[in-house]
Amino acid sequence: MWVRIFFWKEVDVVKKILAIHTGGTISMSQNAQGDVVPNAKNPIAQEATILAGRVQLVTDEMFNLPSPHVTPVEMLKIQQRILRAEADGIDGVVITHGTDTLEETAYFLDLTLPNTIPVVVTGAMRSSNEIGSDGMYNFQSAIEVAADDASQGNGVMVVMNDEIHSARYVTKTHTTNVATFRTPTFGPIGIVAKDHAVYFQQLIRQATCQIDQVIDHVYLIKAYAGMDGSLFDFLDNDTTAGVVIEGLGAGNLPPRTLPAVQRLLDRQIPLVLVSRCYNGVAEDIYDYDGGGIQLRKMGLMLCQGLNGQKARIKLLVGLSAGLTGDDLKDFLRTAVS
Ligand code: ASP
Repeated sequence: MWVRIFFWKEVDVVKKILAIHTGGTISMSQNAQGDVVPNAKNPIAQEATILAGRVQLVTDEMFNLPSPHVTPVEMLKIQQRILRAEADGIDGVVITHGTDTLEETAYFLDLTLPNTIPVVVTGAMRSSNEIGSDGMYNFQSAIEVAADDASQGNGVMVVMNDEIHSARYVTKTHTTNVATFRTPTFGPIGIVAKDHAVYFQQLIRQATCQIDQVIDHVYLIKAYAGMDGSLFDFLDNDTTAGVVIEGLGAGNLPPRTLPAVQRLLDRQIPLVLVSRCYNGVAEDIYDYDGGGIQLRKMGLMLCQGLNGQKARIKLLVGLSAGLTGDDLKDFLRTAVS
């Protein structure tokens, strides 16, 4: 870990920002064959001196992982590192992360941090030496947002491509485009202007959840036309801790799944229902075989506003905190309670 101090313009207060690097394309480079590969030394961390920031930057190269290698265990380590930094007087945190699972780490932190200092997650779609590389730019934007007083109390944010998104709703929507991060239904909460954040939406407060361990065996299943119970039957065992189901439309399932779904419920395995739709929220609207009303009556917990991967993180966090029964149901019900 090392510290550098940059002074920019006439500013009143020099903010102390912790940059946690975890890997991902933002820290990778293209080789002679054109393949994107990890680096032994993170170029973003090494070249941070080019940042014209009004900040004191503290750097921690915590991991060097492609984000498909990131698990809730690393997410918890990042959360614990941020809690330690808060106790040490850090004013804000920026995390660089691979974009593939960035939304899951960001939402995990949103659910488990006390929301006392700005925490911003960023990444890149083009590696560090590619033409049009967006890594250093996004890193600088993220630092500006983390250092901005207006960012207080906004929960964990994702800053990419000049936009500020809430970690609760943002999702990766494109495999390669630099404008990949979008917030369906609600839109971004702000934009990155020349050197500061401009917000035009305020988040509703959410309950956070303190955890000191993460459980395993929480699964995510997507429904499809003609689906039967086979995938659910694979999870009908003693190790399954919980399952999120991305249902059809407003939150419905093909009737052939129902006997297997019931077997999981009989085992007291928590089942959470979200929609596989890109926009909207899951609701119990339909009263037919497999419709949302029947699923709710069977005991599935509807979770509104979250996509499948985020609902899985929320279920995992709730179970890791030891929540059960109505407490777990209340925690999962909406993205804001
Ligand atoms: N596959 C890369 C990762 O998530 C993509 C990225 O970083 O944008 O690590």
